[in-house]
Amino acid sequence: MHYHKINSNDLQNLSSFITDKERFITNPTSHWDHDQFKTVKAMPDLVIQPITNEEVQKVVKYASDNHIPLVARGNSTGLMGANLTVKGGISLDMIKMNKVIEYEPESLTMTVQAGIRLKDIEEFLADKPFTYMPAPAMHWAAIGGNVDTNAGGLKAIKYGVTREHIRKLSVVLTDGRLYKFGTKAVKSASGYSLKDLIIGSEGTLGVVTEVTLRLYPRPKKSINAIIPFPNLDSAIKSVPAILASGVVPTTVEFMGRKVINLWEKYYNEKFPIETGNGFIILGLDAFTDDELKAELQQALAVTKPFNAEKAVILDADSAKAKKIWECREALLLAIQKSTPKMDEIDICVPINKIPEVLHRVDELEEDTGMRIPNFGHAGDGNLHIYLCSDNLSDEEYKEKSKYIISELYKTAKALDGNMSGEHGIGYARKDWFEDYYGQDYTDLLRKLKKVFDPNSVINPDKIFPLE
Ligand SMILES: Cc1cc2nc3c(=O)[nH]c(=O)nc-3n(C[C@H](O)[C@H](O)[C@H](O)COP(=O)(O)OP(=O)(O)OC[C@H]3O[C@@H](n4cnc5c(N)ncnc54)[C@H](O)[C@@H]3O)c2cc1C
Repeated sequence: MHYHKINSNDLQNLSSFITDKERFITNPTSHWDHDQFKTVKAMPDLVIQPITNEEVQKVVKYASDNHIPLVARGNSTGLMGANLTVKGGISLDMIKMNKVIEYEPESLTMTVQAGIRLKDIEEFLADKPFTYMPAPAMHWAAIGGNVDTNAGGLKAIKYGVTREHIRKLSVVLTDGRLYKFGTKAVKSASGYSLKDLIIGSEGTLGVVTEVTLRLYPRPKKSINAIIPFPNLDSAIKSVPAILASGVVPTTVEFMGRKVINLWEKYYNEKFPIETGNGFIILGLDAFTDDELKAELQQALAVTKPFNAEKAVILDADSAKAKKIWECREALLLAIQKSTPKMDEIDICVPINKIPEVLHRVDELEEDTGMRIPNFGHAGDGNLHIYLCSDNLSDEEYKEKSKYIISELYKTAKALDGNMSGEHGIGYARKDWFEDYYGQDYTDLLRKLKKVFDPNSVINPDKIFPLE
């Protein structure tokens, strides 16, 4: 694919679309050349920070008509290089489109601009009886980034992931038009759902400018049970039994003592529970104490045959519960602090297959000598597995990582899982995609991409190679 390199004429034309010159950045700094992992780096030729739909429409159409690559950027907390301008061109930094447009409790919806951060949505709703339910651990991500990666979170089992909480999207396509995909209505049997195609498309089909979120009445009661086990294997094996017993937790996370030790070391903190080597954090919510109590008793009874030790039960708003979540949400960053370089495998397998993946991880750790710490969402089968460079040379790290990634994708495929549960494919994993999902499937995606983006300018070369 041949792209046009931005010249002075383009700069003049594009700048005429943006009223405020501070938002038209012709000398981008390193702020725009990486995401959280820094495994992919690319400097844009130009950064534009739009504040209106009209600005986005004009820039996107110009980019498409003139064959200039354009990549939408949220708050760059992504991990797979998905928001980087790997073909040069424009980084469309959405972070200043950050307004709440409408709060409408009567329809249980709220509409925001795509650049607003999750944290700001949470703060806006804090004193209201409604909440936005998905709970990705990274609160600084923008909602547009969450939509385009179909962010998962800690409440996926009971409430689903981002996809289940989006009613409507405003999306600018390459023809410069602003499309509305979806409505505020709960149901639709009205043709193809283009809203659902955009969700998880990693910015490769269009630019999301507005998002209508589904709101939930805030549950009245919620508790966390931290259940220690003598080892991680027993902890994880108990989860399918908990779920099959009829308990519907909001959350079931797993983590082992080894990753907790890293959090303690790098955050200078103390995990409040001293016994056990493998843990399940169970989240339960309900409208009454009785409901909550019944679910909790059931879950605890089911974990007994798996050698569960005495559980610690905490009100979800207590300081101790908050500390445990702080630990869980910072595990990725704690591991990142423990090594010069890090990469991640984010496979998602059927919940009963997690032990098989973890056994394979142990084997690979032993085979390659690379440290591979991990934790994850036991309730939905999504594992976060980290490849730490430690004191390996760059060459060794690259070679061993490639091997481990390929091996774990083979494992996930054999278990009928997905390459990514929530962090996406982006640029870092695009070369594995076709092999994993097959040529026919990938070709179908290529055809869809062509319909939305005939000149292949919208975040090119992401998810799968274009040709
Ligand atoms: C400590 C930590 C914890 C994390 N925990 C979670 C977690 O629990 N669950 C989870 O799913 N992820 C998690 N992540 C990953 C990351 O936060 C998510 O992928 C998030 O959705 C990215 O949002 P962002 O705004 O940072 O987007 P970016 O990283 O800037 O972009 C991500 C993708 O979205 C596209 N995009 C962004 N905005 C738009 C738009 N307006 N229109 C079209 N495309 C757009 C980009 O082009 C890119 O393809 C975590 C990351 C860290 C560092």
